[in-house]
Amino acid sequence: MSATYKVAIVGAGPAGYFTAQALQNSQSDELKFEIDMIERLPTPWGLVRSGVAPDHPKIKTVAKVFEKIASDPGFRLFGNIELGKDVTLAELKDAYDVVVIATGSALGRKLGIPGEELRGSISAADFVPWYNGHPDFTHIDVPLDGGVAVVIGAGNVAMDCARILAIDPLELDTTDVAPHALSALHESKIRKVHIAARRGAEHASFTSPELRDLPKLEHTDVHINADEIQAATARALAKGDIEKDLKSNLDAMQAIADHPHSGHERSLDLHFLLAPKEIVGTDKVQGITFSINKVEGDKVVDTGETHTISCSLVISAIGYHAAPLAGVPADMGKVKNVDGRVDENLYVVGWAKRGPSGVIGTNKSDAAAVVELIVSDLKSPKKSTNIDEILPITNEVITQEKWSRINAAEIAAGEAVGKPRLKEVSREKLLSLGEG
Ligand SMILES: Cc1cc2nc3c(=O)[nH]c(=O)nc-3n(C[C@H](O)[C@H](O)[C@H](O)COP(=O)(O)OP(=O)(O)OC[C@H]3O[C@@H](n4cnc5c(N)ncnc54)[C@H](O)[C@@H]3O)c2cc1C
Repeated sequence: MSATYKVAIVGAGPAGYFTAQALQNSQSDELKFEIDMIERLPTPWGLVRSGVAPDHPKIKTVAKVFEKIASDPGFRLFGNIELGKDVTLAELKDAYDVVVIATGSALGRKLGIPGEELRGSISAADFVPWYNGHPDFTHIDVPLDGGVAVVIGAGNVAMDCARILAIDPLELDTTDVAPHALSALHESKIRKVHIAARRGAEHASFTSPELRDLPKLEHTDVHINADEIQAATARALAKGDIEKDLKSNLDAMQAIADHPHSGHERSLDLHFLLAPKEIVGTDKVQGITFSINKVEGDKVVDTGETHTISCSLVISAIGYHAAPLAGVPADMGKVKNVDGRVDENLYVVGWAKRGPSGVIGTNKSDAAAVVELIVSDLKSPKKSTNIDEILPITNEVITQEKWSRINAAEIAAGEAVGKPRLKEVSREKLLSLGEG
Protein backbone atom coordinates (compact mmCIF):
# COMPACT_ATOMS: atom_id res chain seq x y z
CA MET A 1 0.00 0.00 0.00
CA SER A 2 1.24 3.48 -0.84
CA ALA A 3 1.77 6.14 1.88
CA THR A 4 1.69 9.85 1.01
CA TYR A 5 3.52 12.33 3.26
CA LYS A 6 3.02 16.09 3.18
CA VAL A 7 6.22 18.13 3.31
CA ALA A 8 6.55 21.90 3.75
CA ILE A 9 9.81 23.38 2.49
CA VAL A 10 10.33 26.93 3.74
CA GLY A 11 12.51 28.97 1.37
CA ALA A 12 12.61 28.75 -2.44
CA GLY A 13 16.36 28.97 -2.92
CA PRO A 14 18.68 26.27 -4.30
CA ALA A 15 18.58 24.27 -1.04
CA GLY A 16 14.77 24.24 -1.05
CA TYR A 17 14.52 23.12 -4.68
CA PHE A 18 17.22 20.45 -4.32
CA THR A 19 15.35 19.12 -1.26
CA ALA A 20 12.17 18.90 -3.33
CA GLN A 21 14.11 17.14 -6.09
CA ALA A 22 15.63 14.61 -3.70
CA LEU A 23 12.17 13.93 -2.21
CA GLN A 24 10.74 13.46 -5.72
CA ASN A 25 13.60 11.08 -6.59
CA SER A 26 13.07 8.97 -3.49
CA GLN A 27 9.41 8.24 -4.33
CA SER A 28 8.37 4.70 -5.12
CA ASP A 29 5.14 2.73 -5.51
CA GLU A 30 4.96 2.62 -1.69
CA LEU A 31 6.18 6.14 -0.90
CA LYS A 32 4.82 9.44 -2.23
CA PHE A 33 5.40 13.07 -1.25
CA GLU A 34 3.21 16.13 -1.65
CA ILE A 35 5.48 19.15 -1.44
CA ASP A 36 4.45 22.71 -0.59
CA MET A 37 7.22 25.30 -0.97
CA ILE A 38 6.72 28.48 1.07
CA GLU A 39 8.64 31.63 0.10
CA ARG A 40 8.49 35.11 1.64
CA LEU A 41 9.05 36.90 -1.69
CA PRO A 42 6.64 36.94 -4.64
CA THR A 43 9.56 35.47 -6.66
CA PRO A 44 11.39 32.17 -6.04
CA TRP A 45 15.03 31.03 -6.71
CA GLY A 46 16.65 32.68 -3.62
CA LEU A 47 20.18 33.91 -4.25
CA VAL A 48 20.12 32.65 -7.84
CA ARG A 49 17.90 35.69 -8.44
CA SER A 50 19.09 38.07 -5.72
CA GLY A 51 22.74 37.05 -5.14
CA VAL A 52 24.47 35.71 -8.25
CA ALA A 53 26.08 38.60 -10.14
CA PRO A 54 24.22 39.94 -13.20
CA ASP A 55 27.35 39.60 -15.36
CA HIS A 56 27.42 35.83 -14.64
CA PRO A 57 24.27 34.76 -16.53
CA LYS A 58 25.36 31.16 -17.14
CA ILE A 59 25.23 30.40 -13.40
CA LYS A 60 21.58 31.45 -13.38
CA THR A 61 20.59 28.80 -15.93
CA VAL A 62 20.23 26.43 -12.94
CA ALA A 63 16.80 28.08 -12.58
CA LYS A 64 15.65 25.82 -15.45
CA VAL A 65 16.31 22.84 -13.16
CA PHE A 66 14.24 24.53 -10.43
CA GLU A 67 11.33 25.08 -12.82
CA LYS A 68 11.45 21.41 -13.88
CA ILE A 69 11.25 20.36 -10.21
CA ALA A 70 8.30 22.75 -9.77
CA SER A 71 6.46 21.27 -12.75
CA ASP A 72 5.88 17.97 -10.89
CA PRO A 73 2.15 17.52 -10.08
CA GLY A 74 3.03 16.88 -6.41
CA PHE A 75 4.69 20.31 -6.03
CA ARG A 76 2.96 23.58 -5.08
CA LEU A 77 4.50 27.05 -4.64
CA PHE A 78 3.22 29.42 -1.95
CA GLY A 79 5.10 32.64 -2.67
CA ASN A 80 4.57 35.88 -0.74
CA ILE A 81 4.13 33.88 2.48
CA GLU A 82 6.63 34.45 5.28
CA LEU A 83 7.33 32.00 8.07
CA GLY A 84 7.11 33.91 11.35
CA LYS A 85 4.76 36.55 9.92
CA ASP A 86 2.01 34.91 7.88
CA VAL A 87 2.35 31.43 9.31
CA THR A 88 4.02 30.07 12.45
CA LEU A 89 6.37 27.16 12.77
CA ALA A 90 3.96 25.46 15.19
CA GLU A 91 1.17 25.68 12.59
CA LEU A 92 3.40 24.16 9.91
CA LYS A 93 4.69 21.38 12.17
CA ASP A 94 1.11 20.57 13.06
CA ALA A 95 -0.15 20.57 9.48
CA TYR A 96 2.69 18.69 7.78
CA ASP A 97 4.42 15.37 8.31
CA VAL A 98 7.78 17.04 7.69
CA VAL A 99 8.92 20.68 7.72
CA VAL A 100 12.24 21.63 6.12
CA ILE A 101 13.80 25.03 6.79
CA ALA A 102 15.68 26.32 3.73
CA THR A 103 15.70 30.02 4.53
CA GLY A 104 19.38 30.71 3.81
CA SER A 105 21.65 33.12 5.59
CA ALA A 106 20.87 36.67 4.59
CA LEU A 107 22.20 39.03 7.28
CA GLY A 108 25.64 40.57 6.75
CA ARG A 109 28.32 40.06 9.41
CA LYS A 110 29.47 43.33 10.95
CA LEU A 111 33.09 44.51 10.95
CA GLY A 112 32.66 45.76 14.53
CA ILE A 113 34.94 48.78 14.06
CA PRO A 114 34.37 52.49 14.72
CA GLY A 115 32.74 54.39 11.85
CA GLU A 116 30.80 51.40 10.56
CA GLU A 117 27.52 53.29 10.91
CA LEU A 118 28.64 56.26 8.74
CA ARG A 119 26.83 57.04 5.49
CA GLY A 120 28.73 55.24 2.73
CA SER A 121 29.55 52.18 4.85
CA ILE A 122 27.31 49.33 3.76
CA SER A 123 27.20 45.57 3.90
CA ALA A 124 27.36 43.33 0.82
CA ALA A 125 24.15 41.85 2.30
CA ASP A 126 22.47 45.18 1.35
CA PHE A 127 24.50 46.15 -1.72
CA VAL A 128 24.10 42.84 -3.61
CA PRO A 129 20.28 42.63 -3.32
CA TRP A 130 20.14 46.37 -4.24
CA TYR A 131 21.81 45.76 -7.61
CA ASN A 132 19.94 42.49 -8.09
CA GLY A 133 16.47 43.98 -7.66
CA HIS A 134 15.35 42.40 -4.34
CA PRO A 135 12.10 44.27 -3.50
CA ASP A 136 13.19 44.94 0.12
CA PHE A 137 16.47 46.64 -0.90
CA THR A 138 15.49 49.17 -3.58
CA HIS A 139 15.80 52.05 -1.08
CA ILE A 140 19.42 51.30 -0.03
CA ASP A 141 21.59 54.42 -0.05
CA VAL A 142 24.66 53.62 -2.17
CA PRO A 143 26.70 56.82 -2.52
CA LEU A 144 28.61 56.54 -5.79
CA ASP A 145 29.67 60.20 -6.04
CA GLY A 146 33.29 59.75 -4.87
CA GLY A 147 36.15 58.38 -6.94
CA VAL A 148 37.27 55.50 -4.71
CA ALA A 149 35.52 52.50 -3.11
CA VAL A 150 36.96 49.86 -0.78
CA VAL A 151 35.54 46.35 -0.47
CA ILE A 152 36.51 44.35 2.62
CA GLY A 153 36.70 40.57 2.22
CA ALA A 154 38.54 37.78 0.46
CA GLY A 155 35.77 35.71 -1.09
CA ASN A 156 33.69 35.66 -4.24
CA VAL A 157 31.02 37.95 -2.77
CA ALA A 158 33.68 40.65 -2.18
CA MET A 159 34.91 40.06 -5.71
CA ASP A 160 31.36 40.39 -7.16
CA CYS A 161 30.81 43.70 -5.31
CA ALA A 162 34.18 45.08 -6.43
CA ARG A 163 33.65 43.99 -10.04
CA ILE A 164 30.18 45.54 -10.26
CA LEU A 165 31.63 48.86 -9.03
CA ALA A 166 34.77 48.70 -11.19
CA ILE A 167 33.48 47.65 -14.60
CA ASP A 168 32.12 50.00 -17.21
CA PRO A 169 28.32 49.97 -16.68
CA LEU A 170 27.95 49.49 -20.43
CA GLU A 171 28.95 45.88 -19.67
CA LEU A 172 25.83 45.61 -17.50
CA ASP A 173 23.41 47.07 -20.06
CA THR A 174 22.65 43.65 -21.50
CA THR A 175 22.23 41.90 -18.12
CA ASP A 176 19.31 41.54 -15.69
CA VAL A 177 20.83 44.04 -13.21
CA ALA A 178 18.05 46.04 -11.48
CA PRO A 179 17.09 49.12 -13.55
CA HIS A 180 17.55 51.53 -10.58
CA ALA A 181 21.07 50.15 -9.97
CA LEU A 182 21.98 50.36 -13.65
CA SER A 183 21.02 54.06 -13.79
CA ALA A 184 22.97 54.76 -10.58
CA LEU A 185 26.04 52.86 -11.87
CA HIS A 186 25.93 54.84 -15.12
CA GLU A 187 26.11 58.03 -13.02
CA SER A 188 28.81 56.60 -10.71
CA LYS A 189 32.03 58.60 -10.28
CA ILE A 190 33.88 55.60 -8.83
CA ARG A 191 36.93 54.76 -10.90
CA LYS A 192 39.21 53.00 -8.42
CA VAL A 193 38.10 49.99 -6.38
CA HIS A 194 40.27 48.27 -3.76
CA ILE A 195 39.63 44.83 -2.28
CA ALA A 196 41.33 44.40 1.09
CA ALA A 197 41.86 41.00 2.72
CA ARG A 198 42.96 40.54 6.33
CA ARG A 199 45.18 37.53 5.68
CA GLY A 200 47.72 36.56 2.99
CA ALA A 201 46.89 35.58 -0.59
CA GLU A 202 47.34 31.91 0.34
CA HIS A 203 44.34 32.20 2.69
CA ALA A 204 41.98 33.99 0.29
CA SER A 205 38.76 32.14 -0.50
CA PHE A 206 38.26 33.57 -3.98
CA THR A 207 37.87 30.72 -6.45
CA SER A 208 40.16 30.47 -9.45
CA PRO A 209 37.54 30.70 -12.28
CA GLU A 210 36.47 34.08 -10.85
CA LEU A 211 40.12 35.20 -10.50
CA ARG A 212 40.92 34.07 -14.05
CA ASP A 213 38.06 36.21 -15.41
CA LEU A 214 39.53 39.42 -13.97
CA PRO A 215 42.25 40.10 -16.59
CA LYS A 216 39.54 39.67 -19.26
CA LEU A 217 37.70 42.81 -18.09
CA GLU A 218 37.55 45.08 -21.10
CA HIS A 219 37.59 48.51 -19.50
CA THR A 220 39.27 47.92 -16.14
CA ASP A 221 42.90 47.30 -15.18
CA VAL A 222 43.32 44.77 -12.37
CA HIS A 223 46.37 45.04 -10.11
CA ILE A 224 47.96 42.60 -7.67
CA ASN A 225 51.43 43.09 -6.27
CA ALA A 226 53.53 40.22 -7.71
CA ASP A 227 55.80 40.27 -4.62
CA GLU A 228 52.81 39.53 -2.38
CA ILE A 229 51.84 36.51 -4.48
CA GLN A 230 55.41 35.21 -4.56
CA ALA A 231 55.70 35.63 -0.77
CA ALA A 232 52.35 33.83 -0.28
CA THR A 233 53.46 31.01 -2.60
CA ALA A 234 56.76 30.68 -0.70
CA ARG A 235 54.88 30.51 2.64
CA ALA A 236 52.51 27.87 1.25
CA LEU A 237 55.41 25.82 -0.18
CA ALA A 238 57.29 26.02 3.13
CA LYS A 239 54.38 24.09 4.69
CA GLY A 240 54.76 21.20 2.21
CA ASP A 241 52.91 20.30 -0.95
CA ILE A 242 50.44 22.94 -2.13
CA GLU A 243 46.93 21.57 -2.47
CA LYS A 244 45.45 21.72 -6.03
CA ASP A 245 42.84 24.45 -5.45
CA LEU A 246 45.32 26.68 -3.64
CA LYS A 247 47.88 26.27 -6.41
CA SER A 248 45.26 27.13 -9.00
CA ASN A 249 44.32 30.28 -7.01
CA LEU A 250 47.91 31.42 -6.56
CA ASP A 251 48.62 30.79 -10.27
CA ALA A 252 45.53 32.82 -11.20
CA MET A 253 46.68 35.68 -8.96
CA GLN A 254 50.18 35.51 -10.46
CA ALA A 255 48.58 35.70 -13.93
CA ILE A 256 46.75 38.88 -12.84
CA ALA A 257 50.04 40.34 -11.54
CA ASP A 258 51.77 39.48 -14.85
CA HIS A 259 48.95 40.74 -17.07
CA PRO A 260 49.92 43.94 -18.91
CA HIS A 261 47.82 46.99 -18.03
CA SER A 262 46.08 49.07 -20.65
CA GLY A 263 46.04 52.38 -18.78
CA HIS A 264 42.25 52.30 -18.30
CA GLU A 265 40.72 55.00 -16.16
CA ARG A 266 39.01 52.23 -14.17
CA SER A 267 41.00 49.95 -11.88
CA LEU A 268 40.49 47.12 -9.41
CA ASP A 269 43.33 46.49 -6.93
CA LEU A 270 43.62 43.42 -4.68
CA HIS A 271 45.48 43.88 -1.37
CA PHE A 272 46.36 41.35 1.32
CA LEU A 273 47.32 41.52 5.01
CA LEU A 274 45.21 44.60 5.71
CA ALA A 275 42.85 44.38 8.72
CA PRO A 276 40.15 47.09 8.91
CA LYS A 277 40.68 49.19 12.06
CA GLU A 278 38.47 52.27 11.65
CA ILE A 279 36.23 53.86 9.06
CA VAL A 280 37.00 57.56 9.19
CA GLY A 281 34.69 60.50 8.51
CA THR A 282 32.37 62.86 10.35
CA ASP A 283 28.92 62.44 8.82
CA LYS A 284 29.96 60.22 5.92
CA VAL A 285 32.80 57.91 4.95
CA GLN A 286 36.02 59.72 4.07
CA GLY A 287 38.46 56.85 4.34
CA ILE A 288 39.35 53.61 6.03
CA THR A 289 42.38 52.85 8.18
CA PHE A 290 43.86 49.36 8.22
CA SER A 291 46.32 47.66 10.55
CA ILE A 292 49.07 46.18 8.42
CA ASN A 293 49.43 42.48 9.19
CA LYS A 294 52.23 40.01 8.56
CA VAL A 295 52.35 36.22 8.59
CA GLU A 296 54.40 34.60 11.36
CA GLY A 297 54.37 30.82 11.19
CA ASP A 298 50.69 29.83 11.14
CA LYS A 299 49.53 33.16 12.54
CA VAL A 300 48.60 36.51 11.07
CA VAL A 301 49.86 39.26 13.41
CA ASP A 302 49.58 43.03 13.55
CA THR A 303 52.82 44.83 12.68
CA GLY A 304 51.69 47.93 14.59
CA GLU A 305 51.81 49.96 11.38
CA THR A 306 48.71 51.37 9.68
CA HIS A 307 47.63 52.28 6.17
CA THR A 308 44.75 54.62 5.27
CA ILE A 309 42.89 54.68 1.96
CA SER A 310 40.80 57.78 1.22
CA CYS A 311 37.43 56.67 -0.13
CA SER A 312 33.73 57.53 0.02
CA LEU A 313 32.29 54.01 -0.04
CA VAL A 314 33.18 50.97 2.08
CA ILE A 315 31.43 47.66 1.43
CA SER A 316 31.99 44.85 3.94
CA ALA A 317 31.71 41.36 2.49
CA ILE A 318 32.94 39.25 5.40
CA GLY A 319 30.18 36.67 5.62
CA TYR A 320 26.55 36.17 6.52
CA HIS A 321 24.47 34.79 9.36
CA ALA A 322 20.91 33.51 9.40
CA ALA A 323 18.03 35.70 10.59
CA PRO A 324 16.50 34.21 13.75
CA LEU A 325 13.21 32.36 13.18
CA ALA A 326 10.69 32.15 16.02
CA GLY A 327 10.63 28.63 17.49
CA VAL A 328 13.73 27.48 15.60
CA PRO A 329 16.84 26.94 17.78
CA ALA A 330 19.84 28.96 16.57
CA ASP A 331 23.54 28.34 17.06
CA MET A 332 26.35 30.61 15.80
CA GLY A 333 24.26 32.21 13.04
CA LYS A 334 22.84 28.90 11.80
CA VAL A 335 19.89 26.70 12.73
CA LYS A 336 20.99 24.30 15.46
CA ASN A 337 20.94 20.82 13.97
CA VAL A 338 22.60 17.43 13.87
CA ASP A 339 23.21 16.42 10.23
CA GLY A 340 20.15 18.46 9.23
CA ARG A 341 17.75 17.12 11.90
CA VAL A 342 16.41 19.82 14.25
CA ASP A 343 13.70 17.93 16.10
CA GLU A 344 11.01 15.32 15.60
CA ASN A 345 9.62 16.50 12.24
CA LEU A 346 11.77 19.57 11.61
CA TYR A 347 14.86 19.59 9.37
CA VAL A 348 17.18 22.21 7.90
CA VAL A 349 19.15 22.39 4.64
CA GLY A 350 21.44 24.78 2.74
CA TRP A 351 23.02 27.91 4.17
CA ALA A 352 20.57 27.92 7.11
CA LYS A 353 22.07 24.53 8.07
CA ARG A 354 25.75 24.90 7.21
CA GLY A 355 26.29 28.66 7.29
CA PRO A 356 27.24 30.72 4.25
CA SER A 357 29.60 28.35 2.51
CA GLY A 358 29.47 26.42 -0.70
CA VAL A 359 28.33 27.07 -4.21
CA ILE A 360 24.87 26.32 -5.61
CA GLY A 361 25.78 22.69 -6.35
CA THR A 362 26.94 22.09 -2.75
CA ASN A 363 23.31 22.42 -1.70
CA LYS A 364 22.33 19.50 -3.92
CA SER A 365 24.43 16.84 -2.19
CA ASP A 366 23.63 18.42 1.17
CA ALA A 367 19.87 18.27 0.52
CA ALA A 368 20.11 14.67 -0.75
CA ALA A 369 21.79 13.60 2.52
CA VAL A 370 19.12 15.33 4.64
CA VAL A 371 16.34 13.74 2.56
CA GLU A 372 17.87 10.29 3.22
CA LEU A 373 17.60 11.07 6.91
CA ILE A 374 14.02 12.33 6.51
CA VAL A 375 13.01 9.14 4.67
CA SER A 376 14.63 6.93 7.33
CA ASP A 377 12.78 8.88 10.08
CA LEU A 378 9.30 8.55 8.49
CA LYS A 379 6.66 6.77 10.55
CA SER A 380 3.09 6.82 9.29
CA PRO A 381 1.50 9.81 7.56
CA LYS A 382 -0.71 11.92 9.78
CA LYS A 383 -4.05 13.29 8.68
CA SER A 384 -2.79 16.72 7.75
CA THR A 385 -4.54 20.05 7.49
CA ASN A 386 -4.54 21.80 4.14
CA ILE A 387 -2.17 24.80 4.26
CA ASP A 388 -4.88 27.02 2.79
CA GLU A 389 -6.71 26.66 6.10
CA ILE A 390 -3.83 28.08 8.15
CA LEU A 391 -2.80 30.94 5.87
CA PRO A 392 -4.23 34.43 6.40
CA ILE A 393 -7.02 34.89 3.85
CA THR A 394 -5.83 38.46 3.19
CA ASN A 395 -2.54 37.21 1.78
CA GLU A 396 -2.11 37.15 -1.94
CA VAL A 397 -0.41 33.83 -2.59
CA ILE A 398 1.93 33.56 -5.56
CA THR A 399 1.21 30.12 -6.94
CA GLN A 400 3.39 28.40 -9.54
CA GLU A 401 0.90 29.53 -12.17
CA LYS A 402 1.18 33.17 -11.10
CA TRP A 403 4.98 32.93 -10.86
CA SER A 404 5.06 31.54 -14.42
CA ARG A 405 3.17 34.65 -15.57
CA ILE A 406 5.63 36.94 -13.74
CA ASN A 407 8.59 35.01 -15.16
CA ALA A 408 7.23 35.18 -18.71
CA ALA A 409 6.42 38.92 -18.40
CA GLU A 410 9.94 39.73 -17.13
CA ILE A 411 11.56 37.70 -19.93
CA ALA A 412 9.33 39.33 -22.59
CA ALA A 413 10.10 42.83 -21.22
CA GLY A 414 13.82 41.97 -21.27
CA GLU A 415 13.71 40.61 -24.82
CA ALA A 416 12.30 43.91 -26.04
CA VAL A 417 15.42 45.75 -24.76
CA GLY A 418 18.13 43.13 -25.37
CA LYS A 419 18.35 41.70 -21.84
CA PRO A 420 17.72 38.17 -20.52
CA ARG A 421 14.95 39.64 -18.33
CA LEU A 422 13.82 42.98 -16.98
CA LYS A 423 13.31 42.42 -13.27
CA GLU A 424 10.27 43.95 -11.61
CA VAL A 425 11.36 45.24 -8.18
CA SER A 426 8.08 46.34 -6.62
CA ARG A 427 6.09 43.78 -4.66
CA GLU A 428 2.81 45.37 -5.77
CA LYS A 429 3.77 45.24 -9.44
CA LEU A 430 4.99 41.66 -9.09
CA LEU A 431 1.63 40.72 -7.59
CA SER A 432 -0.22 42.40 -10.45
CA LEU A 433 2.00 40.70 -13.05
CA GLY A 434 0.99 37.44 -11.38
CA GLU A 435 -2.65 38.24 -12.14
CA GLY A 436 -1.75 38.49 -15.85
C1 LIG B 1 26.32 37.51 -3.40
C2 LIG B 1 26.37 36.04 -3.67
C3 LIG B 1 26.77 35.58 -4.90
C4 LIG B 1 26.84 34.20 -5.14
N1 LIG B 1 27.25 33.78 -6.37
C5 LIG B 1 27.33 32.46 -6.61
C6 LIG B 1 27.76 32.00 -7.90
O1 LIG B 1 28.08 32.80 -8.79
N2 LIG B 1 27.81 30.65 -8.12
C7 LIG B 1 27.46 29.73 -7.14
O2 LIG B 1 27.51 28.53 -7.37
N3 LIG B 1 27.06 30.16 -5.90
C8 LIG B 1 26.98 31.48 -5.63
N4 LIG B 1 26.58 31.91 -4.40
C9 LIG B 1 26.21 30.89 -3.38
C10 LIG B 1 24.75 30.39 -3.55
O3 LIG B 1 23.93 31.49 -3.85
C11 LIG B 1 24.31 29.66 -2.27
O4 LIG B 1 25.06 28.46 -2.17
C12 LIG B 1 22.82 29.29 -2.28
O5 LIG B 1 21.99 30.32 -2.74
C13 LIG B 1 22.36 28.90 -0.87
O6 LIG B 1 21.05 28.38 -1.02
P1 LIG B 1 19.92 28.45 0.11
O7 LIG B 1 18.72 27.87 -0.52
O8 LIG B 1 20.44 27.84 1.36
O9 LIG B 1 19.71 30.00 0.45
P2 LIG B 1 19.07 31.19 -0.42
O10 LIG B 1 19.48 31.12 -1.83
O11 LIG B 1 19.38 32.43 0.34
O12 LIG B 1 17.48 30.94 -0.35
C14 LIG B 1 16.74 31.14 0.83
C15 LIG B 1 15.30 31.51 0.46
O13 LIG B 1 14.52 31.52 1.66
C16 LIG B 1 13.63 32.64 1.64
N5 LIG B 1 13.26 32.96 3.02
C17 LIG B 1 14.08 33.50 3.97
N6 LIG B 1 13.39 33.66 5.13
C18 LIG B 1 12.12 33.20 4.91
C19 LIG B 1 10.96 33.10 5.74
N7 LIG B 1 10.95 33.49 7.01
N8 LIG B 1 9.82 32.58 5.18
C20 LIG B 1 9.81 32.16 3.87
N9 LIG B 1 10.89 32.25 3.05
C21 LIG B 1 12.05 32.75 3.57
C22 LIG B 1 14.46 33.72 0.96
O14 LIG B 1 13.66 34.78 0.46
C23 LIG B 1 15.17 32.91 -0.14
O15 LIG B 1 14.40 32.86 -1.32
C24 LIG B 1 26.49 33.27 -4.12
C25 LIG B 1 26.10 33.75 -2.87
C26 LIG B 1 26.03 35.12 -2.64
C27 LIG B 1 25.61 35.62 -1.29
